[in-house]
Amino acid sequence: METAPAPDPDLLDKVTNLAKRRGFIFQSAEIYGGFRSTYDYGPLGVNMLRNVKQAWWRSMVQTRSDIVGLDAAILGPPAVWAASGHLETFTDPLVDCRKCKERWRADKIDGICPNCGSDQFTEPRAFNLMFKTQAGPVEGDGATAYLRPETAQGMFTNFANVLATTRKKPPFGIAQIGKSFRNEITPQNFVFRTREFEQMEMEYFVPPAEAEQWYRYWIQVRYDWYLDLGIPEALLRLHEHDAADLSHYSRGTTDVEFAYPWGWDELEGVANRGDYDLTQHSSASGTRLEYFDQASNERYTPYVIEPAAGATRAMMAFLLAAYHEDEVEGESRTVLRLDWRLAPYQVAVLPLSKKPELEGVSREVLSRLQPHFMCDYDVTQSIGRRYRRQDEVGTPYCVTVDFTTLEDRAVTVRDRDTTEQVRVAIDDLRAYLVERTGA
Ligand code: ATP
Repeated sequence: METAPAPDPDLLDKVTNLAKRRGFIFQSAEIYGGFRSTYDYGPLGVNMLRNVKQAWWRSMVQTRSDIVGLDAAILGPPAVWAASGHLETFTDPLVDCRKCKERWRADKIDGICPNCGSDQFTEPRAFNLMFKTQAGPVEGDGATAYLRPETAQGMFTNFANVLATTRKKPPFGIAQIGKSFRNEITPQNFVFRTREFEQMEMEYFVPPAEAEQWYRYWIQVRYDWYLDLGIPEALLRLHEHDAADLSHYSRGTTDVEFAYPWGWDELEGVANRGDYDLTQHSSASGTRLEYFDQASNERYTPYVIEPAAGATRAMMAFLLAAYHEDEVEGESRTVLRLDWRLAPYQVAVLPLSKKPELEGVSREVLSRLQPHFMCDYDVTQSIGRRYRRQDEVGTPYCVTVDFTTLEDRAVTVRDRDTTEQVRVAIDDLRAYLVERTGA
């Protein structure tokens, strides 16, 4: 087994601090002392998280004719979760430390209480991770609802609706991005494991005989997606689960793993779920969830291949992989080498000085770029400082407007990674940036 590359021991702290200081991710309800394990995405973070989701949607839906999208409800009735198996089995083993009374997930501690060091625990008991709530003004069993712990069930319960309305035939997929909720026993490591998080899941329905081939296909496609968006190969690996470790529904699961500062851990899971979900919902709901193949005159229950990724967890991995400290002209700098598709801002427009002569043309440059790129506009501090601020949040290009611009209608474009500067005519600027980024 490969060992994870030795990380900077302070990397997690550095990225967490940068995320807070520059407005990527804030502790939720911070002015009230915070609410454990919930986070708010600030002005830069919301841009980046949207970019992560957009890159996924583009690769999974926009550029494919075999996958359609869905946005299903977060609240659901118990019947869905009974049929899916979640009410029964979506549990983690919970233990209490007999000494300090802290509660832990038994499979995540090595027999020693991380709080007090005791090795005395209660027997593990199954703790269901779903958040239960009441829908409507009455309490009681009839009003029970659950917040979804995964987005996948919406794809299964809408299988017949999607088939009827889109005329797709297997192999085809349904994709969804949205919030999921799990009452995690020990949320940890910043946004790696939180109680409220965002998932990007796709259920790919295939003829049973093709399931293995599509399972292998999706493992590769999903691995390549992270590579393509700039995570180095050395920080990624595939980990296939042993048969003994598989979830109750799975015929095969392979995780895409990332080398986090604490070692290899899951980024995304790709599973061959067989016909488990459609069969369960068919028998529980009384609605046939099958495909009728007119060519062969056969009716069958498709198998499902599911790549299940976390949007918030992926964003964290992209931040960790992008974080670098280097030297420019003898000065150290922090730079996020984010792919331009993920960077919160693709371009920063920086007037060289606050003098009013530069404002008109600077605003003109900004408004020419804004329809095509997410842009920042910054007039405070020295130009060197402003470059550093943009490097630190991963802005790939800085466009500087100076006094010569008033004469030659050209600006200086600075590249984040090389720090090279070139002079580009304002009229050619959009084309220049499109060519460099592929936007
Ligand atoms: P674990 O075993 O680590 O609890 P899991 O294997 O149950 O996770 P899945 O159900 O396969 O996770 O969820 C698919 C993806 O959703 C994960 O790979 C991860 O990216 C994301 N995810 C799951 N739980 C959380 C969470 N609590 N916080 C953030 N992301 C999560």
